[in-house]
Amino acid sequence: MKAVLFHQHGGPEVLEYTDFPIPEPLSGEVQVRLRAAALNRADLWVREGWPGLKLEYPHIPGADGAGEVSSLGEGVTDLKIGDRVVINASISCGECSLCLTGKDNLCREWHLLGETVRGTYAEYVVVPTINLLPLPKTIEFEEAAAAGLVFHTAWHSLITRGGLQKDESVLVIGASGGVNTASIQVAKYTGAKVYVVGSSQEKLTLAESLGADVLIDRSKEDNWSKAVYMATNRQGVDVVVDNVGAGTIPLSLRATRKGARILTVGNTGGPVFEIDNRYIFGKHLSILGSTMGTHSDFATVMELIFEGKVKPVLDRHYPLKEAAAAQERLATGQQMGKITLVI
Ligand code: ZN
Repeated sequence: MKAVLFHQHGGPEVLEYTDFPIPEPLSGEVQVRLRAAALNRADLWVREGWPGLKLEYPHIPGADGAGEVSSLGEGVTDLKIGDRVVINASISCGECSLCLTGKDNLCREWHLLGETVRGTYAEYVVVPTINLLPLPKTIEFEEAAAAGLVFHTAWHSLITRGGLQKDESVLVIGASGGVNTASIQVAKYTGAKVYVVGSSQEKLTLAESLGADVLIDRSKEDNWSKAVYMATNRQGVDVVVDNVGAGTIPLSLRATRKGARILTVGNTGGPVFEIDNRYIFGKHLSILGSTMGTHSDFATVMELIFEGKVKPVLDRHYPLKEAAAAQERLATGQQMGKITLVI
């Protein structure tokens, strides 16, 4: 099969579009002929590497994907050859007490597809059958691939972990990335009032089109934390979605009301920062982290995608062989929504 892979860490130049053996499904696994993949920030970090990351080379990146079932492993009866499917990238052992009680995201044998195991920048991939959902004909492969990781992540963080309620207020830091555009929609679907801090008018216009109620342009408003405070009648917000980290968490803490939750699933702005602890105890704050979500979260939020109640925002698409150019675009941060690969 054709695949995009790398033999060593580095910049986009380490990615090679080349031939690689087709993976075969073992018992309980399914081989998928991929038709689309979507890019995530994690793809860039895996390519660049970090201390302690051990990969079996060559490594194939890519968490998100959708396609057609092409081969079934022993014992798989819930799918048949040719079924259209979307992949849940959160892979767990399926046997431990956490997996058996619906907390599969906490499994000690947990892997993110494309991070520590070979992923979806390829014509074929093999995943456990539990990681596939049948895809209705009304949803394009590209759309399904683009929705998977970010809506799964946003749903788990805001709803399962964050317990977001109707009529609460949510501040989303960042207007145009995949998880943020998903978070805005999940929060609006729940009935919350959504405040968005964005870096440009263009990105805020996108947030507004997704339902954001209050827009704050941080290119014009240095102290956006104060602007949020004023916009909430000096109350602060109930929930903050902060996946930037360094540079924003201190301001996010200040934008909250008493008893608020700060949700984080990543740190595009850097992982290490100082926190003024007086905000944490003085305002009774909870900081709730998560990564991906459970199988149940995935099924729930993808149903909303299938029903058209929430929608992934699509940026550009590239052919598989141009994955390096696609990753370069992602690295610039200029994209509006998800960058996808057509396979
Ligand atoms: Zn497990």
